[in-house]
Amino acid sequence: MCDVVGRAVEMSTSRRNLFKSAGALAAGAVFYGGLTAGSTAGAHLPHQEGAEGRRTRLVLLGTAGGPTVYADRYGVSSAVVVEDAVYLVDLGHGSQTRFVQAGIGSASLSNRPMEGLAGVFLTHLHSDHIAEYAALQLTGMWNGLDDPARPVHIHGPGDRGGLPPVFGARPEAPVLPGPGESPTPGTVEMTEHLHRAFATDLNDRIRSSGATDPAGILITHDIALPAGTPIPHDTNPMPPVAPFPVFEDDRVRVTATLVNHAPVFPSFGFRFDTEDGSITFSGDTAPSDNLVELARDTDYLVHEVIDEAWVESRFPEPHTPAIEALIDHLLGSHTTIEDVGPVADRVNAGTLVLNHLVPGDNPESRWLEAHQTSSRPVVVGRDLMQFGMGPRR
Ligand SMILES: [Zn+2]
Repeated sequence: MCDVVGRAVEMSTSRRNLFKSAGALAAGAVFYGGLTAGSTAGAHLPHQEGAEGRRTRLVLLGTAGGPTVYADRYGVSSAVVVEDAVYLVDLGHGSQTRFVQAGIGSASLSNRPMEGLAGVFLTHLHSDHIAEYAALQLTGMWNGLDDPARPVHIHGPGDRGGLPPVFGARPEAPVLPGPGESPTPGTVEMTEHLHRAFATDLNDRIRSSGATDPAGILITHDIALPAGTPIPHDTNPMPPVAPFPVFEDDRVRVTATLVNHAPVFPSFGFRFDTEDGSITFSGDTAPSDNLVELARDTDYLVHEVIDEAWVESRFPEPHTPAIEALIDHLLGSHTTIEDVGPVADRVNAGTLVLNHLVPGDNPESRWLEAHQTSSRPVVVGRDLMQFGMGPRR
């Protein structure tokens, strides 16, 4: 069985150059880079081709959406790489392994592969986006994240402030973790819970091996919402908000917006602006006006997608009204193949990169149907695919 280990797409160095080259690209054109398959662990080094050496890169680490585990797609996680600094968006299962396989950051340094990590941004706290988060907390200090002088800031959603109602006619469900504790802890509280849950390991290693306390290295932040943002507790539409700042250093400026992943709240999309261009991540969302505003004219729109036909196939015919309502409920928080292309058009995206593919084992030909509804170039994301921007280093 082959594991697709890398595809790289050489892109123009700026949005303007993209437009210059547009004459060579038919509407809806699909870029293909080199495709290399390998069957052994040693064959995981990705082909970078045009992306190799670029100052700024988008790297897809994992491209599967949902909690299901697939052979050829790891859990959703992406990297924005500027020089040797790596900023991660989401931490789906296996993302640290993909980080090393991608050869980004300081991955070539023995025993310190995560040293290049410069920031983490969590779109929301569903398992397919954070399954690797506990692993990062527990093993980061053994993989290069051990210098208190070089903390890594982690930005994610705060506490929602209340549970959504149980959907449909199902009975009320038990609530975790219990009385007196929030049923919807945000990023900071979730991390504190993790350290408590794994205290045996952390205490052992701190006391016997001199390990660094992760709380001193991985600094968590609940992303503050714009003042006055209403908190939806039911099926109210996502409140319109203007993009708001989250993080800035000398390489990237990160802005966010609220996207529509009801009933999840808050659920973010992130935009990275760099000297070499911009990359916008949709997070999990139905088509979202907020996201369109955030992503306007972005070079790369990395957008989630779900196959509506697959969703419907999961429920045997004939569909009762209750099943139809459930299907609508599922599709109402994601973007279908048919709807994702028009989003890219509204955004005027340089390239639409399909990501967070649900299901993760659909034939590629099905995803490619997205280019029938978009005038923008469409790429079906694969794990370890890289896109380059800016000058070669
Ligand atoms: Zn998801």
